[in-house]
Amino acid sequence: MNPPSAARALDLLIVGAGFGGLYMLHKARRMGLHALVLEASPSVGGTWYHNRYPGARVDIQSLEYSYSFDEALQQEWRWTERYAAQPELLRYANHVADRFGLRDGIRFSTRMIGAHFDEAAREWVVRSDLGEAWRARFLVMASGPLSSPNKPDFAGLRDFEGPVLHTADWPHEPVDFSGQRVAVVGTGSSAVQAIPIIARQARELTVFQRTAAYAAPARNGPLNAELEARVKADYAGFRARNRRMHGGFGSLLPPNPVPALSVSAAQRQEAFEQRWQVGGFALLGAFNDLLIDLKANETAAQFVREKIRATVTDPATAQLLSPSHTLGCKRLCVDSGYYETFNRPNVRLVDISREPIERFNRKGLRGAGRDFEFDALVLATGFDAMTGTMMRLDLRGRGGLRIQDKWHAGPLNYLGLGIAGFPNLFNIAGPGSTSAFTNVIVAIEHHVDWIAECIAHLDARGLRSIEASEQAEAGWTEHVNASARRTVFLSCNSWYLGANIPGKPRMFMPLADGFPRYADQCTQVAAKGYEGFVLQ
Ligand SMILES: Cc1cc2nc3c(=O)[nH]c(=O)nc-3n(C[C@H](O)[C@H](O)[C@H](O)COP(=O)(O)OP(=O)(O)OC[C@H]3O[C@@H](n4cnc5c(N)ncnc54)[C@H](O)[C@@H]3O)c2cc1C
Repeated sequence: MNPPSAARALDLLIVGAGFGGLYMLHKARRMGLHALVLEASPSVGGTWYHNRYPGARVDIQSLEYSYSFDEALQQEWRWTERYAAQPELLRYANHVADRFGLRDGIRFSTRMIGAHFDEAAREWVVRSDLGEAWRARFLVMASGPLSSPNKPDFAGLRDFEGPVLHTADWPHEPVDFSGQRVAVVGTGSSAVQAIPIIARQARELTVFQRTAAYAAPARNGPLNAELEARVKADYAGFRARNRRMHGGFGSLLPPNPVPALSVSAAQRQEAFEQRWQVGGFALLGAFNDLLIDLKANETAAQFVREKIRATVTDPATAQLLSPSHTLGCKRLCVDSGYYETFNRPNVRLVDISREPIERFNRKGLRGAGRDFEFDALVLATGFDAMTGTMMRLDLRGRGGLRIQDKWHAGPLNYLGLGIAGFPNLFNIAGPGSTSAFTNVIVAIEHHVDWIAECIAHLDARGLRSIEASEQAEAGWTEHVNASARRTVFLSCNSWYLGANIPGKPRMFMPLADGFPRYADQCTQVAAKGYEGFVLQ
């Protein structure tokens, strides 16, 4: 890509208008920087624009999963439910875009297809699918950790005559399954949310399961007015307390600071039950070692399996729905009536763990050694997470280094924010940071604020580029691996490891250290003049 002379000059080019890109644009403008967002879809919202499947909702309470950067915004916005559903989250993203006048800084329906670093000018030359080009001092990838849907290459899928829907690419017009026989492939978070609702509509629902999911009840409902008033009376304090939590949320019910095996079986049961009644991720905080000690973890896993057996009336189905892997090793699902759905007479569960889907045909599929017929197919097969979106781009750093070569064995980076060989490029909520284990809006705000301070630091000193050193990057990669080894996360195949995508390098991508420690490290690096980065 030759640097086009007609390319327009920017301080920042931001890719993506989800919560990451919106806040980055606002922040850049506040600093007087000339910034532009490229967004492939026609509107803002990112995740909440694309994932419109029935039942899509946040699994962190909305009073927490929302921006904290503006006191008036957080006071005036009113969530209707404890866990907002996708339409409300999308309205929120649109409200933020309007309230802060961001739309004129976003080029919608414009996909960034490539960016090459011009070493002489120390600028990025960025191109869109519409043939436009921009020069930017800084390139900010706010393109999302879960924004490339995984669409498995099933044999014969094209032969299937009915509609094929992916949860992450759901149609914008209403989908009505009334009277239909529907098949759902996959039982991860999206499936767990969608299945109870599809089951109520469809004549017949067949769920194809490779790995059973742990799900804790959301206990969703209208937002408690008393709680809302209490939080809003000191929202800044509430946010600060959440930022001190391991996942950037949950200060309303902090983890119990006691190991699971230090108490009696009856006390454990009581602690799990209390947390189960609270709902959502509260269960994982019942003891302080559930995600670091396999024996402790097994006590919680058994508790959930007992709940499944007590809920699902057919013992064979209950057995099939009971996961055998470590609890929380794959993201814990938060559900509203998932296991109960399998008591319905119109729902059946098919195990494809031993005999996978062989091929699709005009009327359905052959799998588990049998033929199945259905009218519509829902793929709830997740994402090529954390790296998928960037690895599809023609992104080249110094010396023409391609991101595909740089990351051929896994996403090397420093602090999750910078990549050696790719100066002036910042990544928001990507691999190497705690984002996947946190309330992602907390992670996003932290990254945007850090990037903004970094740019201010460079500009105040007349410096033009910043790049992670290879040495710092190697140290950070080892740090991310070592953090994972101290947890239970390496004990199963998950998207954190890239295991859901055939051929993807196996590397534990998110940082399991906890948000407070990670944020501290980022602050220290900045305080030491961006130690580990080369500034010029
Ligand atoms: C179904 C679902 C539920 C989730 N629930 C939670 C939750 O409960 N709690 C939580 O903390 N997190 C949750 N997440 C994670 C969620 O992705 C983040 O919370 C957050 O929305 C990420 O915001 P983002 O701006 O970083 O990325 P995104 O929201 O993914 O936005 C990225 C944007 O970049 C655009 N884009 C990508 N590539 C290009 C390109 N080349 N050119 C132009 N535009 C491009 C995309 O179209 C998209 O609009 C969930 C994710 C999913 C999929």
